[in-house]
Amino acid sequence: MSDAQEIITLMKEPSESGKALIEKAFVFSQKAHEGQHRFTGDPYFIHAFSTGKNLATFGADAETIAAGLLHDVIEDAGISDKTIQDEFGKTVLFLVTGVTKLGKLKYRGLERHVESLRKLFIATAEDPRVILIKLADRLHNVETLQGHTNPEKQHRIALETIEIFAPLANRLGMGKLRGDLEDYAFPYAYPKGYAETVRLRNEKSKLSEKYVKKVHHTLGKKLAEQDFTDFHIGSRIKGLYSLYRKLRYHNMDIDKIHDIVALRVIVPSVADCYRVLGIVHNIWRPLPGRIKDYIATPKYNGYQSLHTTVFTGDGGITEIQIRTREMHQTAEYGMASHLAYKEGILSLLKRRVGMRTKEKLSWIRDLIAHEKDMADDGSYLNNLKLDFFGDRVFVFTPKGDVIDLPATATAIDFAYTIHSDVGNHTAGVKVNGKFVAIDTVLKNGDIIEVLTRRDAHPSKKWLDYSHTTIARKHIKAAIQKTFKNPIARFKSKNS
Ligand code: MN
Repeated sequence: MSDAQEIITLMKEPSESGKALIEKAFVFSQKAHEGQHRFTGDPYFIHAFSTGKNLATFGADAETIAAGLLHDVIEDAGISDKTIQDEFGKTVLFLVTGVTKLGKLKYRGLERHVESLRKLFIATAEDPRVILIKLADRLHNVETLQGHTNPEKQHRIALETIEIFAPLANRLGMGKLRGDLEDYAFPYAYPKGYAETVRLRNEKSKLSEKYVKKVHHTLGKKLAEQDFTDFHIGSRIKGLYSLYRKLRYHNMDIDKIHDIVALRVIVPSVADCYRVLGIVHNIWRPLPGRIKDYIATPKYNGYQSLHTTVFTGDGGITEIQIRTREMHQTAEYGMASHLAYKEGILSLLKRRVGMRTKEKLSWIRDLIAHEKDMADDGSYLNNLKLDFFGDRVFVFTPKGDVIDLPATATAIDFAYTIHSDVGNHTAGVKVNGKFVAIDTVLKNGDIIEVLTRRDAHPSKKWLDYSHTTIARKHIKAAIQKTFKNPIARFKSKNS
């Protein structure tokens, strides 16, 4: 059987005290879960152990790994909070209770589920390591979905993984984890879509591979001729769920998708990346509109690379991704993976989770604020998915700060995202230097400037113009206030 050493060897630079903490948590958890079995028939401890191991792979610190080993001992092995605190300290207790579901007595069914999610987000806002533990736990749960005896639960876990936890992993920049979560869950979340995607991919991947091989060979030769000595060319196959997402966007037409197999070039420096791009375009003609510079403008989750799609002759079309080693590491494992031991995973995660510059953890706070508005459970989950995990649009303030919004967001939504006070006094909006109507739907890369005036106020119409929950909430509140104040009401009637 496995032992604690297996986890410790996966860590970057574990301290002696860190190692001791993990050994202790290992022994404690193993004893607490003794005699318990999972639905798969495996000893329960294998689940706790795998969660700890996943956390070590993510680059988590010793406290987080210890909490991962212990994450189910309160819920499933009847260990008290006090015992955990006495044995492992306050922090580990906080991390464990953060992922512990609420008591079965007080909450039931969907309500228990939603409340537990809410609790998880609140704990995450306080200490982002909580979400790492949940993701490590969930990864093992979907890895073992096959053995599930309850098909309804199997479907629910799979769907929730795709709708909530995979986007969270993406948000943290953990591309590999996101793909793993999606691909394990996919067959159980959408069985028909899965079967169809497998069929289409098998049909197409051979041809796609053939083109990629050709490009690989030619490009390797050219780079060597240009005195590149330190480069790596490889190919990656698109994850099945990611392919399905794209297929649906293109009406299941696989001929519209050019990156089933993509070529990946890894070079030492940023300057090398641009040089390689130049060489690629010198050999093959690029498809118009398909060159993406995620180095100059990284994706909101920190992803960086150059992407281009080129015509490779005989009807072949191939996507090429160019990046440095650090960019590659970050894309696969998140910022935490290569900086954790230097900077401390906690501060890093805080930065990563609080992507909306300045205000740390703001989107998690928004999630919680959100929940308060939406008492009934169904709409909470729906709004949460829509506002936070659906398609996003990325726009800029005139100073260059990136603001991400739901894809349907309008100029007035942007104003309220900056500040409720800005929203409430919006007099006009400029997009890319031109005045536009405040219900203009924003596009990626737009630069938005909001002009305010103290005597400008929201009207009822604004509710039709706004699509984010936060804007609508503030507009409603402002309108209500106006109606309570007769002078303001008079003014708004006549404006
Ligand atoms: Mn668990």
